Amino acid sequence: MDFQRRGVMLVIASPSGAGKSSISRALFGADPHIGLSVSVTTRARRTDEVDGKHYHFIDVPTFERMRRDGELLESAEVHGNFYGTPRAMVEEQLAAGKDILFDIDYQGTLQLYEKARADMVTVFILPPSIKELRARLERRAQDSVGTIDKRLFNARTEMAHFGEYDYVIVNEDLEVSVARVRSILAAARLDRRRQLNLDSFVKGLQSQIGPA
Ligand code: GDP
Ligand code: ADP
Ligand code: 5GP
Repeated sequence: MDFQRRGVMLVIASPSGAGKSSISRALFGADPHIGLSVSVTTRARRTDEVDGKHYHFIDVPTFERMRRDGELLESAEVHGNFYGTPRAMVEEQLAAGKDILFDIDYQGTLQLYEKARADMVTVFILPPSIKELRARLERRAQDSVGTIDKRLFNARTEMAHFGEYDYVIVNEDLEVSVARVRSILAAARLDRRRQLNLDSFVKGLQSQIGPA
């Protein structure tokens, strides 16, 4: 039996190339109760990315206007580009009782903690080694050599923030990592504080026993 419940804000973060997008997509595709927060970004679109699906690709003046007008729940500069989470979609999906997956960096995570800590469950993804991280960034073959070097360099700072997350997963085997995130989400959905009608359900059970 499922109770009406508050949606989970599931945050997945990692250094670039560790696999958070692969994990997010696998989860999102297989579970109709999860919505994906599609960020706005000022970075150039990769050839395999679809505008409106992976990101909303916008220019810097549009980003600045959205941030000024309070349309972004959080925003940050990452690897020299601006990223932000549009507020409207998140509010709509949470209101509809959906869980929402956020693929955001540690700066964005900290901003969300200030607004919605009780609704959040956060997961940090680590690569098994830096050799493998470089290999994945190169295999993805979507970024220039300079961009890959910058992302590897930034991994040091990003990984220093693992301690701000509830769960940590070393992404060695993709399927195992996806199963682990799914378990985390399954447990979060059962959190007593997220289940809204427990009081009346228990009262109903008690009344079936009869008066005290
Ligand atoms: P990838 O990490 O290599 O897939 O590169 P991306 O360009 O997709 O993401 C760059 C960084 O921006 C990552 O650290 C993301 O977590 C972060 N990021 C993406 N979307 C958002 C967002 O909406 N808000 C914030 N704060 N960070 C984001
Ligand atoms: P991120 O979103 O963290 O930057 P991606 O999900 O784009 O990372 O993954 C980077 C590259 O590594 C992609 O080419 C992806 O197919 C690959 N990859 C992700 N997870 C694994 C894994 N467990 N084993 C091998 N390759 C992986
Ligand atoms: P990429 O450029 O490789 O798609 O993403 C680089 C980094 O930006 C990733 O670590 C990703 O999680 C982060 N990122 C993407 N969207 C957002 C966002 O809306 N907010 C924040 N804070 N980070 C984001």
